[in-house]
Amino acid sequence: TPAYDLGAVRRDFPILAERVNGRQLVWLDNAATTQKPQAVIDRLAYFYAHENSNIHRAAHELAARATDAYEGARSTVARFIGAASADSVIFVRGATEAVNLVAQTWGRQHIGTDDEIVISHLEHHANIVPWQQLAAEKGAKLRVIPVDDDGQIRLDEFGRMLNDRTKLVAVTHVSNALGTVVPIDQVIAMAHRAGARVLIDGAQSVAHKRIDVQAQDPDFFVFSGHKVFAPTGIGVVYAKPEVLESMPPWQFGGNMIEDVSFDRSVFQQPPARFEAGTGNIADAVGLGAALEYLESIGLESIDRYEHDLLGYATQAMRAVPGLRLIGTAAEKASVLSFVLEGYRTEEVGSALNREGIAVRSGHHCAQPILRRFGLESTVRPSLALYNTCDEVDLLVAALHRLAANVGRRR
Ligand code: PMP
Repeated sequence: TPAYDLGAVRRDFPILAERVNGRQLVWLDNAATTQKPQAVIDRLAYFYAHENSNIHRAAHELAARATDAYEGARSTVARFIGAASADSVIFVRGATEAVNLVAQTWGRQHIGTDDEIVISHLEHHANIVPWQQLAAEKGAKLRVIPVDDDGQIRLDEFGRMLNDRTKLVAVTHVSNALGTVVPIDQVIAMAHRAGARVLIDGAQSVAHKRIDVQAQDPDFFVFSGHKVFAPTGIGVVYAKPEVLESMPPWQFGGNMIEDVSFDRSVFQQPPARFEAGTGNIADAVGLGAALEYLESIGLESIDRYEHDLLGYATQAMRAVPGLRLIGTAAEKASVLSFVLEGYRTEEVGSALNREGIAVRSGHHCAQPILRRFGLESTVRPSLALYNTCDEVDLLVAALHRLAANVGRRR
């Protein structure tokens, strides 16, 4: 049992009362996206009913309200991730856009011929392809930290990889395909000792693990709002002030300039320099509300409860005949990836769906790590703060039924 009122938390999420295929919904697809609490839904409605305006440019009451709401959300993000200043927080569309922004501004500026970018075998395509493309453009080298058979990165191999050509280390905090919690504190310290910058992909960790960007010291930290109970279409790039200061703009246009003539433009200071055009104002405000909601519960309590729930689920699933868990690192968060003997992964997904249980089956946009385990696809239930032991029991009972029927259906 969690240190918070689980029943009350569940009631905060109206969609959890939804019925699907005649059953009460069991939402176990949190790694793909999370559900939204009423506080976030209400905040969006309030914004459009009482505050909606473009920001910064106009001098009237609603512009002031919208600007306050948007900048308030930026401050909330800064507090949530432990940033010293809201000026280090750039709003983008999501983690994908965040990595692309860093690759195309800081990356283009700092990565040259024969330089090396280090990623891990665990990465989501969003933290592979932008670096691969940048490396191709610059004649730089993309190097990959291998993982062991449990799905944890090999720190010894990583240590041997670092050298004076290593310019950037870009790794995920939590693997979306296996649930591995990467020891980012060690990765960051080792990379910094070699003189490299570090980007942490927090897309999969931000709803589960506390991040403190000042104490843990990544140069960049990126995440998507929709994976932390906020709307889609909003995400964050955090970067250290000294890094942002000299980073060139990405997109050009309104909002990001100080002064424009036909000959030249003077750009704004960060974060405005990186937010060309009208941003996703309402959803940024929604993100602020989601993080405040999480703060009201406490991320440490959530982490502890989810850790126990994941342990409970892992043990129960191990008892299902023919079920092979993929990703058995000592430290994991939220994600349980598996294959079931005699079934294609999509068959397991559809069978669970018929019982109202939502999981993902597929390659989870992380093909290299699945292929490391000889697979193209897994079934992936993923937990969040509102999931219960009863829901895990429903999942496991359904899997036992499938396992028992495997002979009969042939
Ligand atoms: N990184 C990781 C680890 C992810 O799990 C995801 C989303 N599945 C992303 C990056 C990309 O996030 P988005 O699709 O929201 O841009």
